[in-house]
Amino acid sequence: MSPQVVHPLSSRTLDPMQRQITTILLASGVLSLTPASPAGAQDARTQLTAGIDARRAEYVAIANRIWSLAEVGYQEHASSKLLQEELSRAGFRVEAGVAGIPTAFVATYGSGKPVIGVLAEFDALPGLSQAAVPERKAVTEHGPGHACGHHLFGTASVAAGIAVKEWMARTGQRGTIRVYGTPAEEGGGGKIYMVRAGLFEDVDVALDWHPGSSNDAGPGSSLANISGKFRFRGLSAHAAGAPWSGRSALDAVEAMNHMVNMMREHVPDGTRIHYVITSGGSAPNVVPDFAEVYYYARHRDATIVRDVWSRFEKAAEGAALGTGTKFEVEVINGVYALLPNETLARMIDANLRRVGGVSYTAEERAFAERIAGTLAKGGPAIASSDSVVPFGVSDAGGSTDVGDVSWVVPNSGFSTATWVPGTPAHSWQAVAAGGMGIGHKGMINAAKTMALSIHDLLTTPQLVAAARAEFEKKRGAGFRYAPLIGERKPPLDYRGSPK
Ligand SMILES: [Zn+2]
Ligand SMILES: [Zn+2]
Repeated sequence: MSPQVVHPLSSRTLDPMQRQITTILLASGVLSLTPASPAGAQDARTQLTAGIDARRAEYVAIANRIWSLAEVGYQEHASSKLLQEELSRAGFRVEAGVAGIPTAFVATYGSGKPVIGVLAEFDALPGLSQAAVPERKAVTEHGPGHACGHHLFGTASVAAGIAVKEWMARTGQRGTIRVYGTPAEEGGGGKIYMVRAGLFEDVDVALDWHPGSSNDAGPGSSLANISGKFRFRGLSAHAAGAPWSGRSALDAVEAMNHMVNMMREHVPDGTRIHYVITSGGSAPNVVPDFAEVYYYARHRDATIVRDVWSRFEKAAEGAALGTGTKFEVEVINGVYALLPNETLARMIDANLRRVGGVSYTAEERAFAERIAGTLAKGGPAIASSDSVVPFGVSDAGGSTDVGDVSWVVPNSGFSTATWVPGTPAHSWQAVAAGGMGIGHKGMINAAKTMALSIHDLLTTPQLVAAARAEFEKKRGAGFRYAPLIGERKPPLDYRGSPK
């Protein structure tokens, strides 16, 4: 998921909500005009960032290990264990195998309110194996790779949790910090099952971050989606000798696709529909008795996604009827759009600015220049990694299972420049930068920004209350969370069986 359009917010035209947020942030010292915020908060901030710097080498080693393991969705056994062990050594109570998912975990420290959650991802992507070098070179041909930077994501969130825990233990600060190990973000929807299992019920705020090619804490949305497979079954026959005896499952797929393609004209603006034929027979002289098509429906509004999906089912039903075949549908994944929270976003933005951007050594700069030479022309300058982008609202075209979290608990996230500016997610260039100094610097910045933000939430009750009020208002009265995946179990084998 990457931001596409940014609408700058003008500080001169603050609406009543923005004014209220700014007042709270200023009063609590989260936003500081010069001179800087109260001495106590300043001390805590110094301790938190120093705590992360002190364990830098350890966190880099963990991230590198997860990067090398490159375990795909629901198979992240070793990666998840590494993070659990780190938390457990630091004094967290770790509960593993939650929500029916062996690699999901919840690690808790402290007690009482507020309860602040931090999300930690760690799954890799198939087919994107890449060495930490500025040219295309796989470590394992067609093997998996960390092309979405989730090795940095998981490690930084754990690092932030530990830094906050140490500060809480030292100062006697009340409250609960909880790190959520959330598997299979890439299409497996781990968080949906964790939300459905009620694991976020007592959480006041849940924060996340994501590796990226810029430093950005603006509130952003994404698209809700439902994806799934339509499977048709017919009768096979010799395609020349006895075609009248056959009923082609591929015909059904084609008829369904034709209907859906016509439907594109009659769906609400902003709907996205895409499909691939995942099985269409194996020989032209055999009438295929099995065919399968894999669909995605997306829109900002989950209600529209549900409606479009039910129309796909009608098209499949019609296609089966007309071709004399039978069909079944399996919903694989379904996520809500992110519900942005500006109160939290402005607080995180203030902390991201305290931490700053990613500056390169001469060696990293040379690496970045070679990577930049392989990216699409006209991208951002390499030097932009060093600055935080102006606060603005972004609309992303992708989808994420953080969306479901954001509808049950106030949530906001941010990105740091773990990749060379202009690098798209899910690219070999992202894997390469994520395995060396640039990725590590972005990860440490993320851990610090996260730790400072958790600190502000633990020490500023009015901030938590304002985030909650905004959340309730945006979600609307009477909202009841119902997962788009319905009753299905986690698709633990969606990436095939472990090798
Ligand atoms: Zn991704
Ligand atoms: Zn990702």
